[in-house]
Amino acid sequence: MKRSGMIHRLILALTLSAAALAGCEKPGALASAGGEIVMAPIGTLSVFQLAGRLGMTVDETSCASATLRNESNTVLIFPSPDAQVIVNAKPLAGGCEISSISGILFVPQNLEEQIRSQLREPTRRTIAPPDRRIAPDRRIGKLGRVVIDAGHGGQDGGARSVLRTHEKHINLAIARMVAQRLSARGAEVIMTRDSDTFIELNERAAISNRAGADLFVSVHADSSDNAAASGFTVYIPNSPSTAARKAGQAIERRMGLTGAASRGIRTAGFRVLLRTSAPAVLVETGFLSNRYEAAKLGDFGYQQRLADAIADGIVEFLSR
Ligand SMILES: [Zn+2]
Repeated sequence: MKRSGMIHRLILALTLSAAALAGCEKPGALASAGGEIVMAPIGTLSVFQLAGRLGMTVDETSCASATLRNESNTVLIFPSPDAQVIVNAKPLAGGCEISSISGILFVPQNLEEQIRSQLREPTRRTIAPPDRRIAPDRRIGKLGRVVIDAGHGGQDGGARSVLRTHEKHINLAIARMVAQRLSARGAEVIMTRDSDTFIELNERAAISNRAGADLFVSVHADSSDNAAASGFTVYIPNSPSTAARKAGQAIERRMGLTGAASRGIRTAGFRVLLRTSAPAVLVETGFLSNRYEAAKLGDFGYQQRLADAIADGIVEFLSR
């Protein structure tokens, strides 16, 4: 590293710790049946969404900075009031608003293209020779890598069914069935939890980011004060990528084929969706506050049909 580079980094590090000391954490979140919703400003991308679109990973992030990297590039992002984006040690022409909300940095959507135009071509990856010991159609993971996230767990029971079941148990039962079906069809599946344990929302997304997943699907069940509210909902993040939209559409269409009523595809700032770099979808399988749907969601046969549909949608998306 050149000396001037070292000094530059030192200054950045000092700016960073000063911002951290100033307590830059800005609240902007509320709880919901699908987990915490972050109030992302309209027309913005989280740094995780941005990284996913640029083929980069988020190396480090806090409310005071984010470092995005791939094998050929480094992007540093600092929030307003002194918003700055540095691509391979060269600052981008500034003038944009970068907000820090609930520990997540949000950048204007158009920053994606500005950064992309400054990136160096990634060095060509060495293509691994095919493993001849495994027949191609039996190769695990040929469909891609999927993270299945059973919502809630442990001390976080999620919504309470009118029939007194906790949402966490229903989510895990369906998530396990989805995972089994995907593995059987050649996808590599990672579950954020496979037992009744508590996992932080950020950690659920981090599991997906570390795995370099092709898709993240979170399974939840809804609840409402209105006992008549019913139907399933498929959520994708605010400012969704085309891939997230396609994954959401495939899952929603397949779930609709079970005969369950759809409330459509909606965008929302669920924390797990905004902190995931892969295309991310959150499924609310039905309302536990509705007596009829609560009974259905507790039924093994219905759980199987829903899991079949969700897995079919995921396979359709991965095979595109
Ligand atoms: Zn939930």
